[in-house]
Amino acid sequence: MTVRTRIAPSPTGDPHVGTAYIALFNLCFARQHGGEFILRIEDTDRVRSTDESEQMILDSLRWLGIEWSEGPDVGGPHGPYRQSERGDIYAEHAQRLIDAGHAFKCYRTSEELDELREARKAAGLHLALKPADLALDADEQERREREGMPYVVRMTVPESGTCVVEDMLRGSIEVDWAQVDAQILLKSDGMPTYHLANVVDDHLMGITHVLRGEEWINSAPKHQLLYEYFGWDMPALCHMPLLRNPDKSKLSKRKNPTSINYYRRMGFLPQAVLNYLGRMGWSMPDEREKFSLEEMIANFDIQRVSLGGPVFDLEKLTWLNGVYLREDLDDQAFLKALMDWAFNEGYVNQILPQVRTRVDTLSDVAPLAGHFFSGLPDIDESSFESVKLEREELVRLLQFLVWRLEGVSSWNKEALLAEVKLLCEYFDLKMKAFLAPVFIAVTGSASSTSVMDAMAILGSDMTRARLRYAINVLGGVSKKQAKRFEKEYRELG
Ligand code: GLU
Repeated sequence: MTVRTRIAPSPTGDPHVGTAYIALFNLCFARQHGGEFILRIEDTDRVRSTDESEQMILDSLRWLGIEWSEGPDVGGPHGPYRQSERGDIYAEHAQRLIDAGHAFKCYRTSEELDELREARKAAGLHLALKPADLALDADEQERREREGMPYVVRMTVPESGTCVVEDMLRGSIEVDWAQVDAQILLKSDGMPTYHLANVVDDHLMGITHVLRGEEWINSAPKHQLLYEYFGWDMPALCHMPLLRNPDKSKLSKRKNPTSINYYRRMGFLPQAVLNYLGRMGWSMPDEREKFSLEEMIANFDIQRVSLGGPVFDLEKLTWLNGVYLREDLDDQAFLKALMDWAFNEGYVNQILPQVRTRVDTLSDVAPLAGHFFSGLPDIDESSFESVKLEREELVRLLQFLVWRLEGVSSWNKEALLAEVKLLCEYFDLKMKAFLAPVFIAVTGSASSTSVMDAMAILGSDMTRARLRYAINVLGGVSKKQAKRFEKEYRELG
């Protein structure tokens, strides 16, 4: 048997370090067994999936040095590798399950579903809806079918008993069937849910081992049942521990930058980031902290993954990156790293229009444009003295901007301008007054190149990181404030 593993990201946002971490372990596992590692895009959520996000995920994994042998961009014998292009396959498989009595068309409306859940709650039962709850009497089912009412396809699930799922790291995991609902397999728009698409694709793509985050453990019983219904062998499952913030909470962008783009912008070396991700829950037999991808593959043993939540610690990563810069890069390699990072024609060309109208000598460029080549600016509370806003209002303004910017999927000046205009109106401020603190937060000074252009060029991750940093130097947001801000922000719509 050839070992085949995969990473199956959903392109619904920034390229997450968690995706790279899981990809790395899948890659190592496959290579160690002389197998193959492939990439599949799980874009069945048509509302949240974007082409930009997919491209960023592919780019950032490649930047890290993670390569796949099959995927949407490189092709392969099991394509297409984008789930949105495999609709017929899922429809056909859903029909197979219906024909075999393992799935059924469900015409229940959302109001009815709420009522059914209420009824189960009142009866002290688990909220998972079962086929028996959902069934309509035959006449009603036929009427709704005849009238062409919208329906979903759901899988049948046992009412009770225990499901045992084997996990490579965790041994037998037992789940009560009572907790498992009659999962939707095809949505009313004909699109599959994650569960159906994932199982069908893993099978058709010959995946032998599924290494994925522990947040998917609860899905495993449904998947196992689907494999049984189809009469297929199930790949071996391995649920990896989730990455954590230093305070042990689940890694989240509120506390730590989670986008690979951020680390790239910040000037981390890909090999250092990849090395650090390899340390997440895993260690070399001799415990050394610094190792290459090849060394990791040569020494890889999945059984040495420890389940205690691995902490993604920015300080440690920064330290490791420094070691790489100092120990590994000779002058030539250092120069190349600098050029790859920001001192290249593509990047400098974007900056030229910003500086050329504002300088008299070439030596004016570096002081003026330094913020394009730096990380977080050197600012403190006093940097904002010239801004005529109460501190709390100032923090609120910056926080609202961060939140609005999180939702921008095509990062360009027009899109940013639209967000800024909307907030100017909301805060009842002229553009200039609104942008004054933003200017300081993003460029680190009160006079520099245009802040709107700077944000567009710096990109989403660095811009948001700087705004968040400014909020912090202004004293941060208390829990109470955060609650109020969130409420007000929601009203903004
Ligand atoms: N699309 C899922 C994700 O975004 C894949 C989960 C899995 O690996 O089964 O993580």
